[in-house]
Amino acid sequence: MLSFKQTYKKYSAPILIFSIFTIIGIIVGSLRGIQYFALFSGIGLTEFIARVIVIARPQYLQAVRRAIQIVLAVLLFGGLSLYFGVNFQFEQIFFDFQAGIVTGALIQFVIARLIIPFLCGNAFCSRVCWDGAVFEVLNPQKPITIKRKEWLAWLYIALLIGITVLVSWQFTNPADPNFDNANILLRRNWIIGQNIFIISIGLIMSYVGGSRFYCRMLCPFMTISSLFYKFSFQKITPVKSDECIKCGKCNKVCPMGSDIMKNVAEKHKVDNKLCILCERCVSSCLKKVLTISHKAPK
Ligand code: SF4
Ligand code: SF4
Ligand code: SF4
Repeated sequence: MLSFKQTYKKYSAPILIFSIFTIIGIIVGSLRGIQYFALFSGIGLTEFIARVIVIARPQYLQAVRRAIQIVLAVLLFGGLSLYFGVNFQFEQIFFDFQAGIVTGALIQFVIARLIIPFLCGNAFCSRVCWDGAVFEVLNPQKPITIKRKEWLAWLYIALLIGITVLVSWQFTNPADPNFDNANILLRRNWIIGQNIFIISIGLIMSYVGGSRFYCRMLCPFMTISSLFYKFSFQKITPVKSDECIKCGKCNKVCPMGSDIMKNVAEKHKVDNKLCILCERCVSSCLKKVLTISHKAPK
């Protein structure tokens, strides 16, 4: 029987994550409406449940993570995006900017890409993003043959911003505050069209360039949040490097091209700024060399 202190220590990470997301939910919900409280506290609750299950049954880590990612994908994309018409995609921030309003796109961007990366890097991409969920389910694990080109990722961001200016100027801004039914329909069609584009590019190009092609090469959210990866409180950390048998499984399963073996050999945390904290490397390691942690590597 564990003491209160031991129990708290064991579950401190899920409690911390749940508390942070609930606080964010209360703040944003009080400013922007109940759906934002539901969004952030719901993410915190699902991650809390997942972490508690995984502490008891670590062998189900990947199954639990995927199940939660799919549930959140259905709720966020089906509910908030298609039903409420909230577009969380990057270009919506610039449509909103031109229309002089603030919507879920900017809120999601600031919290998920500018604040949460200090806590857990790009974990949003392995837990919450619905495009990421599709890539997880449909994308076979493919060797990475095309590596990220930083200039291409920034060019894509410039292109997206240019498109929003052109569409708003020449056609209609889907974020126009004078919404009528036609504009809501336009926004929904934009959301559907853009997600089809992302998923198609991501799936097709993965066969050419390797797993999570869109995420590694183009996604503007990744380009921004990866800037803060080095400050992340939690990272994949070797905890018993000396027991590594150099089997190579961790490197093989990583969808983002991390050289985990090299980091383990150097007793260093995973230093790939594209790491999405999916923990596939953790699950694949029979020697239990790796974990998510804020502690120093050993
Ligand atoms: S990199 Fe972009 S598309 Fe991929 S999971 Fe993250 S947010 Fe989603
Ligand atoms: S899977 Fe584990 S044992 Fe195998 S190379 Fe990676 S860290 Fe070492
Ligand atoms: S290093 Fe591990 S946690 Fe990070 S992306 Fe690769 S497999 Fe996932």
